[in-house]
Amino acid sequence: MGELKIYDTTLRDGAQRDGISYSVGEKITIAKLLDNLGLDYLEGGWPGSNPKDLEFFFRARKTAFKNIKIAAFGSTRHADAKVEEDINVKQLLEAETEVVTIFGKSWDFHVTEALRTSLDENLLMIKESVSYLKDKGKEVIYDAEHFFDGYCHNPDYALATIKAAEAGGADTIVLCDTNGGMLPLQLQEIIRQVKKVVNAPLGIHAHNDAGMGVANSIIAFQSGVVHIQGTINGYGERCGNADLCTIIPNIQYKLGYKVLDENKLKNLRKISYTVAELANMVPSASQPYVGSNAFTHKGGVHVDAVLKHPETYEHFNPELVGNRRRILVSELSGKSNILYKANEMNIKLTKQYPETEKI
Ligand SMILES: [Zn+2]
Repeated sequence: MGELKIYDTTLRDGAQRDGISYSVGEKITIAKLLDNLGLDYLEGGWPGSNPKDLEFFFRARKTAFKNIKIAAFGSTRHADAKVEEDINVKQLLEAETEVVTIFGKSWDFHVTEALRTSLDENLLMIKESVSYLKDKGKEVIYDAEHFFDGYCHNPDYALATIKAAEAGGADTIVLCDTNGGMLPLQLQEIIRQVKKVVNAPLGIHAHNDAGMGVANSIIAFQSGVVHIQGTINGYGERCGNADLCTIIPNIQYKLGYKVLDENKLKNLRKISYTVAELANMVPSASQPYVGSNAFTHKGGVHVDAVLKHPETYEHFNPELVGNRRRILVSELSGKSNILYKANEMNIKLTKQYPETEKI
């Protein structure tokens, strides 16, 4: 098993969230932030889909990144086209990135109904597109779109599609839960079957439509996947992509696998907020780890206990992701809330003072 790689798609899949539209400058700013955080890959966009994405790749080439590899995203060649003449493939190469991520169809129903081509032609489209891009010297990541749904309907064909990508020389094969409807144990079992027939490193791309985006990414990692795709704040179409702001601390601090430098991880909350600001999205207060309510205590009983031992009502030390504990004062408060607030404001009070009782 290789080292775990984190692949961010905030700028491509994340931009498919209703209400988000980044300027090229904003995309470059986010790319630099995620480079500083220490992520491995950044999917910059789909050069074939709009001129803005092509301009992003042009500017990204002139930007010095420390660590992150920029990936251009697009599809396999069209049906019945020559790969070297295919417009999708040409535009991917025009992005001049080190990494190219292409998606192909894994679900027979999509091949015959959406692409309107034969199952055999689809296998050729995958294999030829991957091997052509490999010949051009690219690192090729193959996204197996609708892999899990495809597997549930026709496992042999779904496996044949990723074997075609492997035969083409794909560096990583990413299993996508494109519709986001899988449950963790179901997903784990399918990954187990895939590992019996594919030797290439595997990745996961999970969506959150069943509320399982993070859980599915974690169980995929625990099943031997070495590449995780997601977005900052879980931005993405419909219910979003798997949230890297939850996945990374979970793997690093709950599973004890070092994903990022721990000092850099202390910027996670700041990065989450900066990306929200650039995306014109209101940050979610209840977002795990980085949300402003993630370590906020209101009830008197909770506050009293947390001040004695934080682990009584906190699963995690907020400082590790740059967050902080907050104590609220309300009609639900006890004396501990009042004392904590007073202390924050440098007001001397003790439990014994009559003022405390009065407040
Ligand atoms: Zn997606």
